[in-house]
Amino acid sequence: MAEKKQGAKAAAARVAVLRPETNGEGKVAEPSRDCPLCPRLVAYREENRRKWPEWFNAPVPSFGPLSARLLVVGLAPGLKGANRTGRPFTGDFAGTLLYETLIKSGFARGTYGASPDDGLELIDCRIVNAVRCAPPKNLPDPSEIITCNAFLRAELQGMPHLEAVLALGHVAHLAVLKAYGLGHGAYRFRHGAVHALPDGLLLVDSYHVSRYNTQTGRLTAAMFEAVVAGLAQRLARAA
Ligand code: SF4
Repeated sequence: MAEKKQGAKAAAARVAVLRPETNGEGKVAEPSRDCPLCPRLVAYREENRRKWPEWFNAPVPSFGPLSARLLVVGLAPGLKGANRTGRPFTGDFAGTLLYETLIKSGFARGTYGASPDDGLELIDCRIVNAVRCAPPKNLPDPSEIITCNAFLRAELQGMPHLEAVLALGHVAHLAVLKAYGLGHGAYRFRHGAVHALPDGLLLVDSYHVSRYNTQTGRLTAAMFEAVVAGLAQRLARAA
């Protein structure tokens, strides 16, 4: 009970720390399909719409319930993954490890079929990218990470029961800190690290579930599963 009260207190503090960015209807403000804020990404989006008109080719919305206690933050949509299918981490290599691990740890139910209509359901978990539009070569510019941070901040502010954020990679870690107006000096990125932010939110780090990281052995399935299982245990204890 005491931990529940602490969670509610932390959520209230978070609303005070983060500027309100919701649309007033209990939903998080999402970028429009034609969000014009990052000229380079807009040009890339338009190029992709011409090449592949049947693809999603727009800022990818978050996936999962706003009532979740866990938010997974990735980097940016992959061109042929989320940018094609319209669901974070869906349709490319990274999604397989992420979603299969979430299923194993109880944060998802169903079967990951690499398609938004696979029926997969997230449980107490929501997924968002630090940058909503696909960047060329999967690499957003620093200015794009800064510009899109308003939407990440809106996510954090709009999740009333949020207790933990899983940052996939260094950029996601920095983007979460930026959304809080925190420097990274006291919160160094390290795979497996668990940081307590000033309002009580846990920021948990993992190497990104990218093909590069798994093929080079920087991140194994066991390493990632250990981080997510640890998170599941922490949240179970706090429930
Ligand atoms: S990356 Fe974010 S801020 Fe930039 S154009 Fe896309 S949705 Fe808008």
